[in-house]
Amino acid sequence: MKRHSKQRDLIMEALGKLDHPTAAEIHAYILRQYPKISLGTVYRNLSELAAAGVILRLPSGDGSDRFDCNADEHFHVICTGCGRIFDILSHLPKDAIESLDKTAREHTGVKITGRDISFKGICPDCASR
Ligand SMILES: [Zn+2]
Ligand SMILES: [Zn+2]
Repeated sequence: MKRHSKQRDLIMEALGKLDHPTAAEIHAYILRQYPKISLGTVYRNLSELAAAGVILRLPSGDGSDRFDCNADEHFHVICTGCGRIFDILSHLPKDAIESLDKTAREHTGVKITGRDISFKGICPDCASR
């Protein structure tokens, strides 16, 4: 196996185990079993995977992007307290999406082919602090 794909395998495994991690969290996870990998290598691989559409890059606003191994369209709720990202697993109601698409199309003339929707709020952990 090539070194390159071994690194990718480790990164994809970490992405599957962690919950919308940052590059630093993925790096820390992989270091436990593969002590030689650098943060730069992790970041470069993540960028390539995101550019290829294999994973999603989620800008979090505080500077450290998070990554998602689920590249299928799904929506997120972001905690503004701790930065944690939650998946909304059951999608928004279909008629709500169609209504949003229609509004977007009517205002811009653009045929809508995809959506990137996130909600913000305070998670239960942060709310109880
Ligand atoms: Zn929180
Ligand atoms: Zn997600």
